Amino acid sequence: MATDLEIAVRKVVSTNPATGERLREIDCASPTQVQRVVSRAGEAQPAWAALGLKKRTAILGQFQHLLLEKKVEIATLITREAGKPYVEALLTEVLVVLDATRFLIENAHGFLRPERVPHGGLAMKAKTGHLLREPHGVIGIVSPWNYPFSIPAVEALAALVTGNAVVLKPSEFTSLVGLELASLLHASGVPQAVFQVVVGDGAAGAALLDSPIDKLVFTGSVATGKRVAQAAATRLLPVLLELGGKDPMLVLDDADLEVASSAAVWGAFLNAGQTCLSVERCYVHRSLYEPFLETCVEKTGKLRVGHGLDPETEIGPMIHDRQLRVVEEQVNEAKALGARVLAGGSPLPELGPHFYAPTVLADVTHAMRIMREETFGPVLSVAPFADDEEAIRLANDSDFGLAASVWTRDGQRGEAVARRIVAGTVMVNDTISCFGISEAPHGGVKASGIGRAHGRSGMEEMVRVKYLDTDRLPRVKKVWWYGYGASFARQMEAFIDFQFARGLGKRLKSLPKSAGALLDRKV
Ligand code: NAD
Repeated sequence: MATDLEIAVRKVVSTNPATGERLREIDCASPTQVQRVVSRAGEAQPAWAALGLKKRTAILGQFQHLLLEKKVEIATLITREAGKPYVEALLTEVLVVLDATRFLIENAHGFLRPERVPHGGLAMKAKTGHLLREPHGVIGIVSPWNYPFSIPAVEALAALVTGNAVVLKPSEFTSLVGLELASLLHASGVPQAVFQVVVGDGAAGAALLDSPIDKLVFTGSVATGKRVAQAAATRLLPVLLELGGKDPMLVLDDADLEVASSAAVWGAFLNAGQTCLSVERCYVHRSLYEPFLETCVEKTGKLRVGHGLDPETEIGPMIHDRQLRVVEEQVNEAKALGARVLAGGSPLPELGPHFYAPTVLADVTHAMRIMREETFGPVLSVAPFADDEEAIRLANDSDFGLAASVWTRDGQRGEAVARRIVAGTVMVNDTISCFGISEAPHGGVKASGIGRAHGRSGMEEMVRVKYLDTDRLPRVKKVWWYGYGASFARQMEAFIDFQFARGLGKRLKSLPKSAGALLDRKV
């Protein structure tokens, strides 16, 4: 087992995945340092909460302004460290965060305003109830590399606006983007101790989990998510888990072939397929199957693979060797089990260390890992189906349940199919863009996770609900207090009948007896 000293001198290396160039080496935070950072956050949090929502939203406004000013610089850094094309860094990271900030500024006030809870029960009419939404305290965020800016930023902003302090452990592959988020927030007016970053790999994440945080927001793989949930359970730490996906795309027999094939290609290859919401399984009605495949192959052939900073690039590199090997293994196994490789199917070492050709596979089946495990690479795996029933059965035959899409010219039919798919989100005639709808909750069911980020649900995760109740008759003893006895029991029977007996006559008959309880309090 590593000692604290050994962990303290470990480093993470930030690398450009397109070239292998080392960008920076950073010391990993030791468990002791993580504890100290979290304690500091805990001390700073009450003043941040006391600052008030108006001032906190003003700081978010300043953050939005600075991010807008620095959009080119930030998107460039994201591309250098995560490899994705610059335009994707702009749209799926910078724009998503700008709009999430807009949403929080517009909605935090209504969300945090005490919410009246009207009482329907007769015995409770003399009380007024409110829901108060209070910050947890210190929120730990552990994030992945594939959306290194938008994922932690949207979560952190929701935590901050609701009055929490935040400690972020970014992925070891994208520490620089995590540190850049911190400098933007600090420059906007968030105090240093209220948003802090601890750099490191899994050990730093585990140390954060083991520190006195009040909630952990985790985004990453199912395997790590399970470890996190187990560790959290030992101290009953609340956790939000945003895990992997194996999203199905259902192309029904009346779908627009031209539109659906473009969507499939973009949905499978966006960010080199390293998107939790990627199209990982594509099911196409038998009547469209061959023309759909032909069109997808033709469109895939036109895509330009290269370095993300080249403005012509549409598909960048994968993040690292390990991820590339997962894709190679799954594609090779699918081939061996009878899948047809219609495009791609191998790495592109001539472009750099981590490039994989955009790949179209036909005739895949659920016996293949490529249809059961997350691939997280630029692979469009396509299988035919006979009717809607079969498509729904195939879509639901998965351990995952993050999102899905249904493609049809008939919106009502699409919605009917969508309702039967087990997933956190189902889009009709679009894919992935739900992540950019700031109002929409984001999260999954089954192995895809627990809880929701984004939107009102995302804010809800950042607060604990307190129910505040005030009695409007403080000088009156409650009917249900002591003074039990046979007469009281009859009165209570009548009181229950008065409220719930069938028929107005029966209810009114029990009124005089039940009202007696109001006068008979003995203790
Ligand atoms: P990962 O699970 O390897 O790592 C995620 C984070 O957890 C990293 O910061 C890592 O350092 C940290 N970590 C590792 N071990 C830990 C431990 N024992 N305790 C605490 N933290 C630990 O995932 P990844 O490869 O970075 O990201 C890819 C995965 O994330 C994919 O499965 C993808 O689907 C998923 N993802 C999900 C969503 C979503 O919103 N559902 C979004 C993006 C990515």
